[in-house]
Amino acid sequence: MKSVLVVVAHGDDMEFMCAGTIYRWVKEYNYPVYELILTDNRKGTYTLRESEIIVRSKQESIDAGKILGLKEVRFGNFIDGELEDIPRKYIRNIIIDMIREVKANIVLSWDPFANGEDHPDHRVTALTTYEAISFCSNPNFGTPGLYPLHFVSEAYWFAKKPESAKTFVDITDTIEVKIDALLKHETQMELTFGSLMLEAEILGIDISGLKDADRNTRNQLIANAVREYTAEKGKHCGYKHAEQFRYENFGMLEMVLGQKIIQPEFPPIEI
Ligand SMILES: [Zn+2]
Repeated sequence: MKSVLVVVAHGDDMEFMCAGTIYRWVKEYNYPVYELILTDNRKGTYTLRESEIIVRSKQESIDAGKILGLKEVRFGNFIDGELEDIPRKYIRNIIIDMIREVKANIVLSWDPFANGEDHPDHRVTALTTYEAISFCSNPNFGTPGLYPLHFVSEAYWFAKKPESAKTFVDITDTIEVKIDALLKHETQMELTFGSLMLEAEILGIDISGLKDADRNTRNQLIANAVREYTAEKGKHCGYKHAEQFRYENFGMLEMVLGQKIIQPEFPPIEI
């Protein structure tokens, strides 16, 4: 039995990047999965007031978490888009404390070493998570005495830029649950659609037929785009739909004892 912690910056990061894999751990392995969302998503809208988007976005994450069978969705409540203004030590300690509290064996997050990550919140989330994994076993980091020290054995880093990501997880049986969870993020689907409209407008492309699309049509378009994306990933490994990660394991025990101890459910493959 392993415990899984997903650390993300925004409400829909997990659903986009790893929800099909998460649902496999929940359903097939019965692992407890926890999510920590560091920001309040307040910048994720073209139209809503700040107070409205914050409340709605939280509820959407809770609803998506229910679909995926998460044990808990926790919020850091930092201002969206401004994580880099917070001292890294402060964020790192929150993550260390949660790793210890839920006894996480597997951690998922943005890749601290991915090239070309454009979102500052993703970069900060990735780096502080990586540091938290490294130092959750050290009594001088985190909140001393709050929880027992812990050791994280495995990380699955989101493969936004896939050059070094060799772990493909077959999500053929969980793609529709992933999409259901993603579509719970109504405010973020509106944002995605809004940015599509803006792009078309700036480029002078007439997509007026889509402009007045109702919610269902919009959701179908996004669902199809996600299916296409995961099918494209699947082509690399012979799965119908896949999610892709850079897998990393930690520790020295395997080397000291000269034997394999950590058993990943989804081992890396050579492509
Ligand atoms: Zn994000």
